[in-house]
Amino acid sequence: MIKIGVLGFQGRVYEHIYMLKILAKKYKIPVEAVIVKKKDRLEGLNGIIIPGGESTTISVLARKFGVLDELKKLIEDGLPVMGTCAGTIFLAKKVSDRVVGEVKQETLSSMNIEVVRNYFGRQRESFEIDLDIQNIGRKFRAIFIRSPAITRYWGRTRVLAKLNGVIVAAEEDNKLAFVFHPELTNDLRVHKYFIESFVAR
Ligand code: GLN
Repeated sequence: MIKIGVLGFQGRVYEHIYMLKILAKKYKIPVEAVIVKKKDRLEGLNGIIIPGGESTTISVLARKFGVLDELKKLIEDGLPVMGTCAGTIFLAKKVSDRVVGEVKQETLSSMNIEVVRNYFGRQRESFEIDLDIQNIGRKFRAIFIRSPAITRYWGRTRVLAKLNGVIVAAEEDNKLAFVFHPELTNDLRVHKYFIESFVAR
């Protein structure tokens, strides 16, 4: 059994659980999805997803409930992780905000990326667009909701997709990051890629 946790403090938690369930059924992959809100729930995981939502809230609660340090350590030790939107912000080593500039929010500081929160601005706060994503495929319907952008990367990070020259998906070793919401579509390709190429490899 492949056990995938979804960090469950806040955000689009159930949508990821649902995607994993459909994936398991459709491709007959033995995936079990669990919601993680406590440290002991991190035990025995084969991978974890950090959902979109509000990155400051996720960070504050992960600290409060004692999950942050343990999760950071597990990722350092190689636990496969996928972040979507706020989840990507929470993975980043450097974070700023498009409007207020410097922010003092705590992150896992796991991935060699810099992100700018709310990058796409007011008028385009939320939009959908078809993207070609390397390793995943063409015309993936990407839903952006007050999404960040990846503005800088270093180390072993590789870019997977860009929108008008702006990085919107990247990967680095055991880490996979999207600034949009693949869990809000019914396209399973992103989750399938995570399970097949990161978790079950
Ligand atoms: N703007 C949110 C944040 O900064 C992210 C939005 C999202 O996850 N949909 O945390």
